[in-house]
Amino acid sequence: MPSALHGLTISEARSLLDRREVSARELTQAHLDRIRDIDPRVGAFVSVTPEEALRQADLADAAIARGDAGPLAGIPMQIKDNMCTRGIATTCSSRMLERFVPPYDATVVERLRDRHAVMVGKGNMDEFAMGSSTENSAFFPTRNPWDVHRVPGGSSGGPAAAVASGESVFSLGSDTGGSIRQPASLCGIVGIKPTYGLVSRYGLVAFASSLDQIGPLTKDVTDCAIVLGAIAGSDPRDSTSIPMEPPDYTAALTGDVRGLRIGVPREYYAEGIDPAVADTLRQALAKLESLGAVVEETSLPHTSYALAVYYILAPSEASANLARYDGVKYGYSAQDAGGMWEAMELTKQRGFGPEVKRRIMLGTYALSAGYYDAYYLKAQKVRTLIGREFRDAFQKYDVLVTPTSPTVAFKLGDKVEDPVQMYLSDVCTIPINIAGVPAMSLPAGFVDGLPVGMQIIGRPLGEETILRTAHAYEQATEWHTMRPDL
Ligand code: GLN
Repeated sequence: MPSALHGLTISEARSLLDRREVSARELTQAHLDRIRDIDPRVGAFVSVTPEEALRQADLADAAIARGDAGPLAGIPMQIKDNMCTRGIATTCSSRMLERFVPPYDATVVERLRDRHAVMVGKGNMDEFAMGSSTENSAFFPTRNPWDVHRVPGGSSGGPAAAVASGESVFSLGSDTGGSIRQPASLCGIVGIKPTYGLVSRYGLVAFASSLDQIGPLTKDVTDCAIVLGAIAGSDPRDSTSIPMEPPDYTAALTGDVRGLRIGVPREYYAEGIDPAVADTLRQALAKLESLGAVVEETSLPHTSYALAVYYILAPSEASANLARYDGVKYGYSAQDAGGMWEAMELTKQRGFGPEVKRRIMLGTYALSAGYYDAYYLKAQKVRTLIGREFRDAFQKYDVLVTPTSPTVAFKLGDKVEDPVQMYLSDVCTIPINIAGVPAMSLPAGFVDGLPVGMQIIGRPLGEETILRTAHAYEQATEWHTMRPDL
């Protein structure tokens, strides 16, 4: 049996499983051992589910023995704790849902289970996915496997850290303004936010419904293509899902980017971006050029409004979505109140953390009579302009390339007291959710020993072009093979 079973990619694990050199049970146990050994230092898991995992692993072994194992059979995975798992607590890293056990699976969870992927546990996150460092978890912060004094990014910090540290082979995250890509970038792994509507959100606890998407976090681009193919495609239970069969994304990994037109929007290399990060990206672009891509500078001038638009629209939608946590149907419920109104007040007061309350207040304000036109409506109009700007850019370019995060991983405690600084961590990723287009982050180098991510943005349903570009770059570099020393 190979010694380090916990650093494997899906494809590596697949060949060991198919050659019967390791069983799904052994592979699962190796990941459970890894979690036991290092998660006290990393904090990537809100819950670990060993019995359920080993049971699923045995089912996977049976499927392998029958010869009907797909690419994900027997592969250990972690699911962010805002996706419903039947019979297993789904907390959103919030006191509000600490004891919530869903009676059903999210569609993505169901699809992965049907393919015999093995869930080893649920991933820590910023409470209700609001944050960029996972410090807003009501339970404990997650730490960056490359330096445990630094944040892993957020809000999918647990899912990213689990993959980077070999606690899961892959994870599922959600991305409303950067929550898959920014942690992928800070942890040195691959993460994709698919086109809005490509992946069903049935069973995803809603944050901002016009922006939320689910996507994979993986060790390399091939794994990303495999997982995306498994979770994408229409779902009658999510009316925003696009009616289509997903293509075979792995077929897009041709290694060929000759003639590919890459736009480089200068706003993403300017003020607010760490010059060392921008330099790393320029080197990555030179590499893509040497592979035959045509790289050209361009401009997306409305970018500077994206953060303001997001912090009106996302909190507005959040304030509506989170109104359901009133202590009546599910979640925390204050039992010691004098009457109904007091019960609701106390429930929200105690159930939600400070960032969630801030968002609810911002959103309620932006939607109030008298402010609605000035804030919400105006933001919707600017959203249209931002979308149009991307559409125009894609007349000329196949993909756009930017940094994913303006900086490498920052220290725990550095930004948590300053919401605006925290919000700025997502300047490069938020415009993409606003436009609804897909984008990936993948490893593109290191600054001071910490990973830097490259963001590749594509047309609506342009996932194959993104994957092809990323794969060609990955083939020509070694960043994706580096592992933190834990
Ligand atoms: N950091 C952003 C926020 O706090 C984005 C979070 C996300 O994508 N879920 O809203």
